[in-house]
Amino acid sequence: MGRKAFVFDIARCSGCYCCQLACKDEHCGNDFTPIAAPQPDIGQFWVKVKDYVNGSAPKVAVHYVPEMCNHCEKCALLAIAKDGDVYRREDGLIIIDPVKAKGHKELATACPYGAVYWNAELDIPQKCTGCAHLLDNGYKLPRCVEMCATGALQFGDTDDPAMQDLIEGATVLKPETGCAPQVYYRNIPGKFIAGTVYDPVEKEVLIGARVRAINGGKLYMTHTDEYGDFWFKDLAVGVFDVYVEAKGYKTKVFTGLRTRECVNLGDIALEKE
Ligand code: SF4
Ligand code: SF4
Ligand code: SF4
Repeated sequence: MGRKAFVFDIARCSGCYCCQLACKDEHCGNDFTPIAAPQPDIGQFWVKVKDYVNGSAPKVAVHYVPEMCNHCEKCALLAIAKDGDVYRREDGLIIIDPVKAKGHKELATACPYGAVYWNAELDIPQKCTGCAHLLDNGYKLPRCVEMCATGALQFGDTDDPAMQDLIEGATVLKPETGCAPQVYYRNIPGKFIAGTVYDPVEKEVLIGARVRAINGGKLYMTHTDEYGDFWFKDLAVGVFDVYVEAKGYKTKVFTGLRTRECVNLGDIALEKE
């Protein structure tokens, strides 16, 4: 049997929060011991949809990244586990035993992803179980995956060729932890540089102006659209020089633009030669 893995396709995620709600519906008030004790109504999100707003008005891009326990091959909790309070199932899912982990508060702070919560009322650490209670009862999918209407969230075995295709080229969160996560992400957008080009005398946008962005000898090129807008999307983090050119106009140059954050160059006035 291969390991179980999740794949989130960020390009297909609408940010509807259904996965987050589905997990609540499945686990709040429901006791699935020995897999999971009830999740409290408030304070815990075993899958949490985070929204990322990039740029500044009117050049703004929003994307959503659902985050959960990564069911890592090298789960940090296993390093401090005792008496079976945390274990890896044969299918790779990492489970905190709700009975054996009672009082083991150290488990709640050991995850470098912050995926583990402390339930003060029950005196136990808790997190996503991969809905192992459902899988053990013949269901193919965890609740959150089943409820994702866009297909952004996928789940399956790593020895399934379809899953292998999805995982290939995907990335994981914080690979530097060395935990080897089994939750993969596709299409996390890169940074952008954008702006609007106009003629300040004619008070008209310039359509078809050529815009070049250069980073370490690598050239990106685009032209302004019918609104005078240009976008360079999915850029890596780096330092860029941008040249805005139109026939009969003086070229405008922006140097040293850092794409640690998205860059909105705003309205760019090109003066006639
Ligand atoms: S249910 Fe699917 S589309 Fe909705 S937020 Fe979750 S992953 Fe995104
Ligand atoms: S996300 Fe944290 S708790 Fe989950 S498997 Fe990885 S290290 Fe363990
Ligand atoms: S797999 Fe189950 S426990 Fe994990 S986030 Fe999804 S619904 Fe919640």
